[in-house]
Amino acid sequence: MSAQIIDGRIHAERLRAEVGAEVALLRAEHGLQPGLAVVLVGEDPASLGYVKSKGEQALAAGMHSVTHRLPADTRQDEMIRLVADLDADPLIHGILVQLPLPKHLDENAVIAAISPDKDVDGLSVANAGRLVAGLPALVACTPTGCLILLKATLGDLTGKRAVVVGRSLLVGKPIAQLLLAADCTVTMAHSRTVDLPAVCREADILVAAVGRPRMIRGDWIKPGACVIDVGINRVPFDHPEQAAAGKTKIVGDVNYKEALEVAGWVTPAPGGVGPMTVAVLLHNTVLAAKRQAGLEI
Ligand code: NDP
Repeated sequence: MSAQIIDGRIHAERLRAEVGAEVALLRAEHGLQPGLAVVLVGEDPASLGYVKSKGEQALAAGMHSVTHRLPADTRQDEMIRLVADLDADPLIHGILVQLPLPKHLDENAVIAAISPDKDVDGLSVANAGRLVAGLPALVACTPTGCLILLKATLGDLTGKRAVVVGRSLLVGKPIAQLLLAADCTVTMAHSRTVDLPAVCREADILVAAVGRPRMIRGDWIKPGACVIDVGINRVPFDHPEQAAAGKTKIVGDVNYKEALEVAGWVTPAPGGVGPMTVAVLLHNTVLAAKRQAGLEI
C-alpha cells in the first residue's frame, strides 16, 4: 500500500487566490486594504526566511504589509512600545510577532500587548479562550492550516479518532480544540504519555507536532490513517560526504518513507503544513480587517 501525498502547496495556492480575490473586493467596494505587520527580533536565519515570505505573500495578495526588523538586544519596553504603536495604527489589522523571541524578552507580555482583534497568530489568552468556548476567534495559523488539509482530504471528520502528539499553545492545543470542534474524539499525547506508539496506532487522524526528527515510525501508524506532519527539523544530509560538508535538510516529525507504506494519506515535510501557515496568516488578516471594519461579526 502506498499513501496519497497531501500537497500543501496546492491547497495554500488555492487559499491565497481566495484571499487575493477577497482583498480586491474589499478594496473596490469598501476602500478597505487589509494590513499586516510582522515583527522580527534578531537574525535567526529560519525566522528571517519566514518573515520575508510572509511580507512578500501579503503584498502579492494586494494587502498593506510592513515588516519591522529589530536588533537582538532590543529592550522589553521598546518592543512593547512598537507593538502598542502598531496596535493603534488604523492601517494595520493584524500583528504577528515572529517567535521565538530572544530569551531576555517576555513573550507573554509582548503577546498581551496585541489586542485580541489584531492577534492574527491566535496566541492571546482571549483568542485561546474563545476557541475553547466555541466563540468566533482568531485561531493560530498552523493549526487552522492542518484542519483545512484534513477537511479537504477526508471531508466530514465526525467521529474520527484523532491523536495529537504535542501540546504547545501554538500548535498542539489549538489543533486538538479544532478537531474537537469538528466532532472528532481527541487524545492529546506528549512527552509523558505512556506507550506512545500504542496511542498513535488508535488514530484515524494522527497529527505530529513534536519537534523531533522522524520520531513517528511506520509501525506507530494505523493502516489507512491520515497523517499530518507539522514538524520542521533541520538535520544533516543522509549521505556521509554531504553531511561532512555541513549540508542540512528539513525533515518532519514523521518517518516519511515508513509512513508512505502504511498510511492512507500523509503530508510531506517540507511542502505539507508549512505553506498553509502563511496562507492562513493572510486569511486571518483579512478576517481581522473585516471584523474591525464591522463587515463581519
Ligand atoms: P514545542 O517544543 O513548543 O512543543 C513540543 C511538544 O512535543 C511538547 O508538548 C512536548 O511535550 C512534545 N514532545 C517532546 N518530545 C516528545 C516525545 N519524545 N514524545 C512525545 N511528545 C514529545 O514545539 P511546537 O509545538 O512549537 O512545534 C512542534 C514542531 O512543529 C516543531 O518541529 C516546529 O518546528 C514545528 N512547527 C511547524 C510550523 C509550520 O508552519 N509547519 C509552525 C510551528 C511549529 P511536553 O509538553 O510534555 O514537553
